[in-house]
Amino acid sequence: MQGLILEGTTTDSVRLSDDLELVGALTPRQVRVEVRAAGVCGSDLSCVLGKYHLPTPLVPGHEAAGVVVETGAAVTYCSVGDHVILSTFGNCGHCDDCESGDPGNCTNSALGSLKQPFAENGRPVYNFANIGAFVQQTTVSESQCIPIPAAMPLAAAALVGCSVATGAGAVFNRARVQIGDTVAVIGAGGVGLNVIQAARLSGASAIVAIDRAAAKEALAREFGATDFVLADGDDFDPVAAVKSLCPAGVHHAFEVVGDTALLAQAISMTRPGGNVAAVGVPDLGARVTYPFLDLHQNKSLLGIRAGGARPRKDFPMLVDLYLRGRLKLDEMISHTAGLDGLQDAFDALQSGTEARTVLLPNG
Ligand SMILES: [Zn+2]
Ligand SMILES: [Zn+2]
Repeated sequence: MQGLILEGTTTDSVRLSDDLELVGALTPRQVRVEVRAAGVCGSDLSCVLGKYHLPTPLVPGHEAAGVVVETGAAVTYCSVGDHVILSTFGNCGHCDDCESGDPGNCTNSALGSLKQPFAENGRPVYNFANIGAFVQQTTVSESQCIPIPAAMPLAAAALVGCSVATGAGAVFNRARVQIGDTVAVIGAGGVGLNVIQAARLSGASAIVAIDRAAAKEALAREFGATDFVLADGDDFDPVAAVKSLCPAGVHHAFEVVGDTALLAQAISMTRPGGNVAAVGVPDLGARVTYPFLDLHQNKSLLGIRAGGARPRKDFPMLVDLYLRGRLKLDEMISHTAGLDGLQDAFDALQSGTEARTVLLPNG
């Protein structure tokens, strides 16, 4: 089958293979999924650029939806033919964290656990984020398969698995934005737009979007931003820009870019008692420094893995909001393309000119 294989640390070190295969029979709780749609996320770019220090060869891609084609003998979560959104957690489903409703904290499948479900000409190939979605079929555990109604378009469904769950989950599950709160969002890409629309759904009064691309303003406002600040020039000061709109600072500042300097500035733009949400993921070896006094006044710095999601609760809820016309997803999809569209998608991500490309590995 076809799939994309990374062997290096540059965007052009990804190549299209016609000779990928899934290795071995399914174990009792595994599921084989035909990937119908896979969004190209900022984390795929970071993965390909070596910021996560993962071994190669590796199939990137992790924001995906598809159709179940085979189930292991003990699988009960889904059946052949079900449409599913894939979760990156790969959690065990039966430890104390899974049982208490925090599958993202599962220690039996730690963040960055490595699997090699694929091979190319007999050579083992890793997956990214427990999925490896830029491929025609992949193998995951049943806890990663969240069934959705067949009426849900699969390209829009794919986005729910990462950018929507991550952005909306940061608002709903972690910061818990309340009606009338003020919000700043640094980075108005795929995840940032979902922070914005979830803040709107939560009843935030001011939603200040900050981005370095002027082209993001229209979409940011469409998703619910009340103000857009263009991060223009080397001397741009996001703290001063936010405080000119919300003089005391904001109740919640979301850093979505994954930049440690911006995270420090997010701390400084938050009002006393507020939340600083570290949504974006920098190089995993990065260290953050910030002025001590800027966090001191009862602010909370929130580490957030994938929106603090409970996929089996959150994904159907988000799909339901979409099907009822309350959540924007189609507006995020700038392009669809085959697997050969990855380079263009990376170019667009790096220039900040579009929200999302969705790859359709099976056409
Ligand atoms: Zn992602
Ligand atoms: Zn577990």
